[in-house]
Amino acid sequence: MAGATEFSPMGALDIAGLWDGFRGELLRPQDPGYEDARKVWNGSIDRFPALIARCAGVADVIAAVKFARDNGLLVAVRGGGHSFPGLSVCDGGLVIDLSLMKGIRVDPEGRTVRAQAGVLLGELDRETQAFGLAVPSGIVTHTGLSGLTLGGGINWLMRKYGLTIDQLLSVDLITAEGELVKASEMENPELFWGIRGGGGNFGIVTEFEFRLNPVGPIVLAGPIFWPIEEAPKVLRFYREWIVKAPEELMTIVTSRKAPPLPFVPRELHGKLIVGVACCYAGAVEEGEKVVKPLKEFGSPVLDVCVPKPFLAHQAMFDPSFPHGRWYYIRACDVAQLTDEVIDITVGHALRINSPYSALTLWQRGGAVARVGEDETAFGGRSAGHTFNITGATEGSEGFEEERQWVRNFWSALEPHHTSVYVNFLMEEGEERIRQAYGARKYDRLKALKRRYDPDNLFRLNQNIRPDVTV
Ligand SMILES: Cc1cc2nc3c(=O)[nH]c(=O)nc-3n(C[C@H](O)[C@H](O)[C@H](O)COP(=O)(O)OP(=O)(O)OC[C@H]3O[C@@H](n4cnc5c(N)ncnc54)[C@H](O)[C@@H]3O)c2cc1C
Repeated sequence: MAGATEFSPMGALDIAGLWDGFRGELLRPQDPGYEDARKVWNGSIDRFPALIARCAGVADVIAAVKFARDNGLLVAVRGGGHSFPGLSVCDGGLVIDLSLMKGIRVDPEGRTVRAQAGVLLGELDRETQAFGLAVPSGIVTHTGLSGLTLGGGINWLMRKYGLTIDQLLSVDLITAEGELVKASEMENPELFWGIRGGGGNFGIVTEFEFRLNPVGPIVLAGPIFWPIEEAPKVLRFYREWIVKAPEELMTIVTSRKAPPLPFVPRELHGKLIVGVACCYAGAVEEGEKVVKPLKEFGSPVLDVCVPKPFLAHQAMFDPSFPHGRWYYIRACDVAQLTDEVIDITVGHALRINSPYSALTLWQRGGAVARVGEDETAFGGRSAGHTFNITGATEGSEGFEEERQWVRNFWSALEPHHTSVYVNFLMEEGEERIRQAYGARKYDRLKALKRRYDPDNLFRLNQNIRPDVTV
């Protein structure tokens, strides 16, 4: 990083004023640290911002917002950097990077936690699990709490405790004018409605406050795998079995080539498999009874659904989705796993080519669906299942083929699409964003956008444009 006295203009841009008192780091292309700071999770995104403002606190965020406005800069806001289409980095503009803001304070008595905007899911779990508590968040520990929460947050505990936003109590937010506002059910309730699903459209959240719930610390959790040939039968059994399962149980169906991980027997490495990963958010003995029929179905090749620390389970998918690979993702919700949906799923799973590509198919329902569709901006609460189809490669080689596999799979499911989870969108255009919320809620979000960000300063997101017509 350049020293505070070395003010060199960035093109016509003079950052001297921004340096004044800035507690974090300001990185320009020539500064050490810039290369790492501009990288995001998806390795296929390669952008070069003019300036990265790594904020240390709220005052830095306010200064960066005002600086962007005064200089007419394109603004990207970065929490954990996990946006699938790389919306937290831009070419030529300013990245307001919150990743240094790591404060977490648990109140075990009051069962609440406050977390700053740069916190990652694993960091939050680490602090809350010290007290046997948790916020329902997401399934990969290096994902950012900020972006995940603002889109909704689907997770291992959601059938019992709901989406991440269903445990959100309040936020501190910096508006496009650089002003601090608070939002909760009591204060600015319309804004609070909008940020629960509406993403970063209305301002920069600097701090979240959540309710905590008891979880574990030991849970019955993990996957059971079958050879892909058994997938048609396994999925039909699964469809019937989950109907009777209690809300403590959350499952995710996966299909991919078995990775060479320590717990996977060598003879399975590289073979196509179908799995059902479980997490039982209740007593282990009860969970064992619930999961028994699944464990006994067909001829599983691997069963690692066992009692384990919740923290270990939360990290289970980490090795499957590391930083830096090239990723392309398409997603949709469906109402049911009909025979046709199952046949499409198995047909396309059989065509998986890359060792890194995968299907992740989330069970929904339970507490998520008990919250009314209009209570928060998040769309698609009554969905039965969420498909996340991920094509991934080490680099550019083979990426186009994986992209095509993802598109073909997604298109085949199109007649069954009901809704789409906004955080699982790529850059797919305004009509898809409207679909994520539904037309009525989308109009309500537009009205909120006109109120808080009429000039669309915060536009690198699943953008709710302030204009009246689509
Ligand atoms: C490996 C992986 C696993 C995932 N698992 C899950 C999962 O289990 N459940 C789930 O629901 N989703 C999951 N997702 C999707 C995830 O919710 C989104 O990618 C989310 O946007 C990531 O948030 P982030 O802060 O890391 O991303 P970023 O790229 O930093 O930000 C994403 C968007 O949010 C905006 N933003 C970020 N922070 C703020 C802030 N403080 N204020 C205002 N705007 C902000 C950014 O400008 C950008 O538009 C996963 C993604 C990945 C890559």
